[in-house]
Amino acid sequence: MITLQDKNILVTGASQGIGREIAISASKLGATVTIVGRNVEKLQETISLLSGNGHKMQAVDLSNATDIDELISQSLPYDGVIFNAGIVEYLPVKFLNESKIDAVFSVNFDSNVVLSQKLIKKKLLNKKASLVFISSISSKLGVGGTAMYAASKAALISFSKVLATELAPQGIRSNSICPGIVKTAMTEQASDAASEEELKKAELEYPLGYGEPSDVAGLVMYLLSDMSKWMTGSDLIIDGGFTLK
Ligand code: NDP
Repeated sequence: MITLQDKNILVTGASQGIGREIAISASKLGATVTIVGRNVEKLQETISLLSGNGHKMQAVDLSNATDIDELISQSLPYDGVIFNAGIVEYLPVKFLNESKIDAVFSVNFDSNVVLSQKLIKKKLLNKKASLVFISSISSKLGVGGTAMYAASKAALISFSKVLATELAPQGIRSNSICPGIVKTAMTEQASDAASEEELKKAELEYPLGYGEPSDVAGLVMYLLSDMSKWMTGSDLIIDGGFTLK
């Protein structure tokens, strides 16, 4: 029932993981997809996995304003934008400094503000477009060592809600998604420090186990499609039941 036929969709951070799966799913539903990230080889790999024709890729470092301008200058109006690119940094608050704060916020938050503002100002969002911000369940928790990651993801939710209000007159919707742990390179990096036993114990906290990128992509497809046309300003938890307790 869900179709993205004739929709032009931009996915950031689509060289791997959740972003790649979102691009693949959107192409299967008929969308024309533009994917961005820094790693050209991995972007090419994603392109090779897409269904249909006319998809584009562009090497973009989202922490670099010139790269964002370049992307904007080559863009046609979008019907959907997935703000998915993100990085994680585990550090207790006492070890934070300005450059570490900037490093996380520039990718996880600032880049999304700059990109969405430029898309709005250059009229690159079609009427009834859908914006989806990939936040994190971390934004609602207080897990030690995640201060900048969690704060940047919480900021994203607030930003998305304000956008939802400001863009509603054009029928443009803005929602955010808070996934729990999804098996990707990002979580592999985090689990490097833990033992096999600790990892198994941690997964037991998830009644439905850890997620797959396709679990998040499924929800994104709904938010991109016209089936969610009355949904805006929401922040949706998708976490296999982790926050039930
Ligand atoms: P990955 O590390 O697998 O992928 C991250 C993506 O972001 C890559 O495609 C990477 O591309 C891109 N990226 C990172 N920095 C930049 C940059 N400066 N400019 C452009 N692109 C960049 O992560 P996941 O797929 O796991 O995560 C995707 C999103 O989901 C993130 O925002 C993450 O915070 C969020 N999330 C993930 C969860 C999980 O458990 N995996 C849970 C909750 C939220 P490249 O290296 O080519 O630049």
